[in-house]
Amino acid sequence: MGKRPVQKKKAPRSQTKKRYSAFKKRAQKILYEKYVLVACANCGEMKLSHHICPNCGHYGKRRAIDTGKDVVKKIKA
Ligand SMILES: [Zn+2]
Repeated sequence: MGKRPVQKKKAPRSQTKKRYSAFKKRAQKILYEKYVLVACANCGEMKLSHHICPNCGHYGKRRAIDTGKDVVKKIKA
């Protein structure tokens, strides 16, 4: 890529693909590190770490919230 605001010639496909693949790799890495999924200690369902399990409502060993309609409301809020 040039330093000018409007480039003189169309960038070759390989250059565009190289740039895009680098961007994609970086974005995937960020997403992978952002969301850490762990198995729930109570039901074994996959959940976000340091979050209440949406399946059974447990946080660690203790029951944090009732399962049912309450769970759906708390996730959406
Ligand atoms: Zn659970």
